[in-house]
Amino acid sequence: MAKPLDIQNQRFGKILVKSLIPEEERRNAYKRREWLCECDCGNSLIIEQRNLTGSKYQQLSCGCTRVKFHLLKTSKIKGLTFEFIDSFEDYEKYAYLHKQFVKHFTATEDFEIYEKFINKFYIDNQFNLLYNKWVKENKENKENTFYDLYKPSLDHIIPKSKGGDNSLDNLQFLTVFENLSKRDMTMKEWNEFKVRTNTQSDLYL
Ligand SMILES: [Zn+2]
Repeated sequence: MAKPLDIQNQRFGKILVKSLIPEEERRNAYKRREWLCECDCGNSLIIEQRNLTGSKYQQLSCGCTRVKFHLLKTSKIKGLTFEFIDSFEDYEKYAYLHKQFVKHFTATEDFEIYEKFINKFYIDNQFNLLYNKWVKENKENKENTFYDLYKPSLDHIIPKSKGGDNSLDNLQFLTVFENLSKRDMTMKEWNEFKVRTNTQSDLYL
């Protein structure tokens, strides 16, 4: 019998092979070689050697890339690549912005506009402030989901009804609640309204 392949410290896609599982601890019925591995996303997992080196099936991540491939396959953005999706450290946040884009722009928009939108808001202070608060609220009040007032919602600073367009300079995120309150006011009018009526809320900027 040939000497088993040593794949310690080797890389398969996002999987880094760390150490061999001792024979007595292997879970598969035939005690085939298993390795303790680490995925680039931080997950540790045990993988059978044949699933790393095999020709029939090759495991290239802990499963964390599956959801990204699904988004890629179902998206109609022309020119979107797996590498672009995978370049964001916080996939959930990226996917949230992706959804907002698809909702507000035509779904088959060119990648150039899409890329600018995602890159702008992924690091946008106002968006991140609202998004982080919403994520925190969601975690702490899981049962209270009847209406997600904190949810970041895309707003036209100058409303479409007053000549505002879909250009990036005219877009911002507000909470759903503030967006509904603002209605067809411009941001300037809305800010003045808030001061004039002394309207305050935890849900407002
Ligand atoms: Zn992973």
